[in-house]
Amino acid sequence: MNILEVNDLNVYYGVIHAIKNISFHIKRGEIVSLIGANGAGKTSTLHAISGLIPIKSGEISLNGENTTNTVAHKLVSKGMAHVPEGRRIFTELTVLENLEMGAFIRNDQAEIKKDMEHMFSLFPRLAERKRQLAGTMSGGEQQMLAMARALMSNPSLLLLDEPSMGLAPLLVQEIFEIIKKINKEDNVTILLVEQNANMALSIADRGYVLETGSIILEGTGKELLTNSEIKRAYLGG
Ligand code: ATP
Repeated sequence: MNILEVNDLNVYYGVIHAIKNISFHIKRGEIVSLIGANGAGKTSTLHAISGLIPIKSGEISLNGENTTNTVAHKLVSKGMAHVPEGRRIFTELTVLENLEMGAFIRNDQAEIKKDMEHMFSLFPRLAERKRQLAGTMSGGEQQMLAMARALMSNPSLLLLDEPSMGLAPLLVQEIFEIIKKINKEDNVTILLVEQNANMALSIADRGYVLETGSIILEGTGKELLTNSEIKRAYLGG
């Protein structure tokens, strides 16, 4: 069963045709990576899927339901959560308050409390910093908080935009380990957008390669990692 289907999606910014007729799907339980260079259209694709920008044409469906042009907060209640590029946490709020905000669509207090504890076990660094103002945390900690906040909405599909951006290699590894864990243990399907193609493809079941707004290649993570064209263009060798 496909949790997400995108058919013939087109996005324009004025006269700029940023997304050109792309189609792809994600099966329930998968990690799917969308890779591509700067400006290829990765962020625009995520924004279109999560209702943050209008689309020109095309169809998007979530769990078999047509959600084209559905506003962002409604998509959250339908099980989609988006961790945007640059994290966008509430810097003036504490870690705990950020997590509470993540659960804004829910009112199952006991479950929220349980999920909060689960977040602290997934991200022990956040547990140590519950009362710290989010804006004073390191880039890696802020990335963890952004992911934990999104997970507090209890999503079945998590969209991650460049989670590795600006992080030291060890932290990148830690974040990717957590992504795998969320997928395997918590059954969250993942759409991962990354410039770090190597990492993104090594944890992905499948991947798509975007180039100037079009999907030019698709395959399993393994196939793409060993594809000579991809190696030359995206993996530095
Ligand atoms: P990056 O990794 O640099 O964020 P990306 O693959 O996510 O790149 P997008 O940010 O989706 O790419 O951008 C795709 C294209 O759309 C680029 O040519 C970009 O300049 C253009 N674009 C994105 N946002 C806007 C906007 N608000 N107004 C005009 N053009 C935009």
